[in-house]
Amino acid sequence: MSKIKTMTTSYEEVFLNENDLEKLKSLIQGDVLLPTDTEYDSARRIWNGMIDKCPAMIVRCTGPADVIDAVKFARKHNILVSVRGGGHNVAGNALCDDGMVIDLSCMKGIHVDLKSNTARAQAGVTLGELDRETQIFGLSVPSGIVTTTGIAGLTLGGGFGYTSRKYGLTIDNLISVDMVTANGEFLTASNTENEDLFWGIRGGGGNFGIVTSFEYKLQKVGPIVLGGMLLHSMDKAREFLRFYRDFIVDAPDELAVVPLLRLAPPAPFLPQKLHGKPVVGVIVLYTGSIEDGEPIIAPLRKYGTPLIDGIGPKPFQTLQSMLDTGVLPGWNYYVKSEYLPAFSDDFIDTLVEHASKITSPLSVIAGFHLGGAVSRINEDSTAYNHRNAAYSLILNTTWIDPSESDKHIKWTREFWKALQPFSIGGAYVNFMTGDESDRVAAAYGANYARLKQIKKKYDPENIFHNNQNIKPTV
Ligand SMILES: Cc1cc2nc3c(=O)[nH]c(=O)nc-3n(C[C@H](O)[C@H](O)[C@H](O)COP(=O)(O)OP(=O)(O)OC[C@H]3O[C@@H](n4cnc5c(N)ncnc54)[C@H](O)[C@@H]3O)c2cc1C
Repeated sequence: MSKIKTMTTSYEEVFLNENDLEKLKSLIQGDVLLPTDTEYDSARRIWNGMIDKCPAMIVRCTGPADVIDAVKFARKHNILVSVRGGGHNVAGNALCDDGMVIDLSCMKGIHVDLKSNTARAQAGVTLGELDRETQIFGLSVPSGIVTTTGIAGLTLGGGFGYTSRKYGLTIDNLISVDMVTANGEFLTASNTENEDLFWGIRGGGGNFGIVTSFEYKLQKVGPIVLGGMLLHSMDKAREFLRFYRDFIVDAPDELAVVPLLRLAPPAPFLPQKLHGKPVVGVIVLYTGSIEDGEPIIAPLRKYGTPLIDGIGPKPFQTLQSMLDTGVLPGWNYYVKSEYLPAFSDDFIDTLVEHASKITSPLSVIAGFHLGGAVSRINEDSTAYNHRNAAYSLILNTTWIDPSESDKHIKWTREFWKALQPFSIGGAYVNFMTGDESDRVAAAYGANYARLKQIKKKYDPENIFHNNQNIKPTV
């Protein structure tokens, strides 16, 4: 009888015999993919092409029952596990070498309840899929800005996007989750059930168990909104960003204005003569009526002579998918990010200096515009920390040719180092790469000690450690 090589949770080789594997296959309604299966190679691919991990098996779950059995099997045979939602995380923690990937990406159920204005979505749903089911009713769950991102990882880390200033983080709109703990127990966490766990999963990532579905409060958005992209030439960047900084001071919660710097991509909404040219600009969304938004946005549109002004009424889903073609799966990605206060003159100078040395036509520097409703919730109300930040600045470095990796990573690290004097500290776990585990404590600040206690209660053996890991030990 042949044996299958796997890895224990403490990274020692262990062999599984075929009978045990057959037992697992008989339990699982979805697929159990092995390296010999034709679908294995595509199933072990995630968004970041830099990640090349080879699991011993990929358990593609169809529902909570598969998740429960996969966890119980992994526990019984002491097999290393990782958990995959949308597979979008830059660090690649959804996969593991030689262990079991519990893959929820096929769990696509969405149920919208118009009576209670809520939606329940399974853990394999993407932001675009959720918007599709909610936008038909002019509703939305506040989330991120690229439609292919998974709701699971995004929600568990906090989640912010264009509507967060108006409606808060994704976790601020989370009512409950169903999840499977390290013991294979299925439970609900909410403000009235397993409250400690509910506090922890709102920012604490996948540390405490596997969420099978999320119940969200729905908010009114669009479906037609006022928004779009406006670009100026990079040689105007310093003046434009100073104007932007002053313009945004009194912005209402409805207005999100995300600054960005990059080389103009060959996107269909940009004239060909701009492609590859260094640009500075903003993406705007007004989460309110078009009539109310127009006079508020007008000064931004009247400033200088933009290269393009794509702001106007458009479907919210169009705005949400505007950046999708610039972040395709399988390209190489390296990310650094920092929480920042309002822009200072010195910060703007640093930003423009490093952006001008950008090494890849695909890389983007973007500032998630926070504040508003995000900042009006106490820091200890959820595990997510740093609600006082005005921005989360991301250096999203992107390239296609793997032989160029060193050059692009070097540019990112130097840029990030130069940002340090301006940072308010901390880190956003959803933007952390695989080489940033030393930032986990800082990401949670004063909430970290409580998170360790919850981890000790629900996963004392740290079964779920392929994530930005909160260790149960002191
Ligand atoms: C192009 C792009 C755009 C982005 N834009 C935004 C944005 O606008 N706003 C924002 O806040 N973030 C954004 N992010 C970051 C995003 O929130 C994280 O990458 C997030 O982790 C993605 O979730 P996922 O389910 O797709 O990831 P995965 O890679 O599947 O998982 C990420 C982590 O969560 C764990 N996990 C996944 N599913 C579960 C589950 N069901 N139960 C328990 N643990 C689980 C995994 O084990 C892993 O550790 C963006 C990322 C990318 C790549």
